[in-house]
This record gives sequence, structure tokens and C-alpha cells, in this order.
Amino acid sequence: MRLAGTMNIGLFGGTFDPIHRGHIALARAAQQRCKLSRIYFVPANVPPHKEKHPIAPFLHRYAMIALATAQEKAFVPSLLEAPEGSAAAGRKERAPRPNYTIDTVRRLKQTFKNSDRLFLLIGIDAFDDVAQWHQAEALFRECEFIVGSRPGYSLADVANALPERLRPRAEATRPFQKQAATGDLVLRGATIHLLDQVHQPVSATAIRASAAAGKPLSRFVDTSVADYIKKVGLYK
Ligand code: ATP
Repeated sequence: MRLAGTMNIGLFGGTFDPIHRGHIALARAAQQRCKLSRIYFVPANVPPHKEKHPIAPFLHRYAMIALATAQEKAFVPSLLEAPEGSAAAGRKERAPRPNYTIDTVRRLKQTFKNSDRLFLLIGIDAFDDVAQWHQAEALFRECEFIVGSRPGYSLADVANALPERLRPRAEATRPFQKQAATGDLVLRGATIHLLDQVHQPVSATAIRASAAAGKPLSRFVDTSVADYIKKVGLYK
């Protein structure tokens, strides 16, 4: 039974450089599967574990999220990881070290009622590294995970990606090796909802390359985002 007023809330963090149709597809599937009343899209300022290329300024990535989510009532652009001291953040107090997911999660949960549940949205490629994240074990205690799966990943891969102390013993996951990464994985200390068939053949890396080559982008990103990239001259 669901208690009156209980809300399931999603948090979707990423570089979003730029936000694309793959991200939106994952968010829609997560919303349906876990009955999320809202999903916060949180562009990262400087992701500590991922700086493979020069990243577009926070404001541009945020603006594109605002455009791409404008038609979806439940999709909310978030300034939770806005750069410190940024006027754009509109906060009176500066948030300390806003870049670790655990900090963002705890900050968001301060606004929650006790009965609210938080779900972290993530693609399976990113989930693969989760054990290396800052305070990974604590993160699994703070929220449930919704993982956008891809063909070729097994349930054992998902279980083995967990932080060591939450990882089931090898004997226990052996039967998982032949099982596709679908359904729900409920373990002591970790709850993971797997979404299959959401992954789209879209990546921000390929989009930046297309933009640099002057190719059309509207197959990969919302038309408003494609127009923005062109107008502002991003990824040139
Ligand atoms: P890049 O190509 O720059 O690495 P990315 O889109 O993979 O970009 P992020 O913007 O940080 O990287 O992605 C945010 C989240 O969205 C991550 O959890 C990632 O796994 C997931 N994601 C990325 N692309 C897809 C896709 N096509 N379908 C579903 N999820 C995706």
C-alpha cells in the first residue's frame, strides 16, 4: 500500500554535453517503471571521475536541459551542482564540494518527507564504475538505483559492479551469468531496478563530432537543442 503523499523522485546526473534523446528515453522509461512523480536532471559542474574532453560551460549544458525537458511536466532542470558562487545558482549560501553524487543526494533529500523515496537514474556503462565513486556504499543506502541496461550485460555484471561489501559472493552470482540484466535486483544494502531496451544508439561524443562537422543533429537531440547548439556555435 502506498501511503498518502508518498512520492518517488528521480535524480538523473550526468555531464549532459549535450542532453540527447537517449537520456530522455531512459528518463521516460524510469518514470513509468518506478512511478516517479518528478525527475531532476542535474548537470555536473566538474565530474570528478570523468573529464575526457573539454566540457561546455555549465550554463550552456543547463540551458539545453531546460529546452529538452520543457514539454515534460515531471522533468525538472536542477541547479544542485551549479558551480560554487555562481549567480546562476541563486543560492544565498555556497554549497560545499557539490560534485560528488553522495553530497547531491543528501542535499536533495533534505527537502524530502520521510516517506519519499529517491531513485538514481544511470546508464549501465556508468554503473560499471560505481564501486569507485566517493562513498559508494553509503550511496546505495541513501537511494535505489534505476539502471538503463544494454544488450550484452548480464545480471552477474550488475551484481559484480557493486561496492565490495555489497557484492554477493561469486557462488551466489554464478547463476546470474546467463541471465540478461533485466528485472529488479534486491540485495542487502542495494536495490537496483533494471530497464532493458531503453538504450538508444546515441552518444554525446558522437553528437559533438557531428556538430563540429556541421551535420544535422535533430535525429539525436531535441530540435530546440539542435537549434541552440547551432545558434551559440557550440562544439565548433
Ligand atoms: P559522453 O559521450 O560525453 O560520454 P554520455 O551521454 O555517455 O556522454 P553523460 O551525459 O554523462 O554521458 O550521461 C549521463 C547518463 O546517461 C549516464 O548515466 C549514461 O550512462 C547515460 N546514457 C548516456 N547515453 C545513453 C543512451 N544512449 N541511452 C541511455 N542512457 C544513456
